[in-house]
Amino acid sequence: MSEPHIERSVDRSHMQVSDEVAIQIENMNKWYGQFHVLRDIDLTVQRGERIVIAGPSGSGKSTLIRCINRLEEHQQGKIVVDGIELTNDLKNIDKIRREVGMVFQHFNLFPHLTILENLTLAPIWVRKTPKKEAIDTAMHFLEKVKIPEQADKYPGQLSGGQQQRVAIARSLCMKPRIMLFDEPTSALDPEMIKEVLDTMIELAEEGMTMLCVTHEMGFAQAVANRVIFMADGQIVEQNNPHDFFNNPKSDRTKQFLSQIL
Ligand code: ADP
Ligand code: MG
Repeated sequence: MSEPHIERSVDRSHMQVSDEVAIQIENMNKWYGQFHVLRDIDLTVQRGERIVIAGPSGSGKSTLIRCINRLEEHQQGKIVVDGIELTNDLKNIDKIRREVGMVFQHFNLFPHLTILENLTLAPIWVRKTPKKEAIDTAMHFLEKVKIPEQADKYPGQLSGGQQQRVAIARSLCMKPRIMLFDEPTSALDPEMIKEVLDTMIELAEEGMTMLCVTHEMGFAQAVANRVIFMADGQIVEQNNPHDFFNNPKSDRTKQFLSQIL
């Protein structure tokens, strides 16, 4: 098992899931040219769910979550986010992007802007939020990720873990109802992984709907209410973390777990 970055014994049973559907994916297929990358994906995510997506490299994890905010386009089937179907209708895509925040492996901060400017850029210029309000919101979320004192520095002056927390805060400034994480700790030195996972745990405890592609199986066991295992563009198996890790059903899952645990 990877380094236990987080306390697994903490009782998180208060983290309830609502009946409301946040994301509905039905019989979704996607190709890159001739390559059939996602096959017959069916996935319903309830509001407040915390889903970890695991699977070998190249299995389609990134492509799947990128389809949810239309960074990638699917060719068949249906994706409905917050009751809005993803079609070519740009207005709908815009609405969905307002609901869905995304954090990547690489933080993608603007290097020539301060942390505060990175956080207020989109709210001011895209959302037309008044500057003072955008700054207040940015400081609120910088406090939440515990680095308000870094507001006037440039990204290059921060550690990787701090930069990733800025990236999370930047997403939160757009007030998303769903957060997608694509290997947010994979580029970090081990000692910085915990501070980012702690931020993600806090979000989960506040009821954020989260889909996280991660190799942090300790995080999955402690925080996820469902683990989804993908291989070759398909959802092979899904279960609550306890049963997923202790009683995997498919050979593909067993093989994967034997390699990472
Ligand atoms: P994962 O995140 O699980 O590693 P990805 O979703 O990144 O998997 O990729 C799934 C498969 O699709 C891989 O075989 C990858 O090479 C391929 N792929 C990813 N992005 C593209 C792209 N833009 N064009 C063509 N093939 C791609
Ligand atoms: Mg990936």
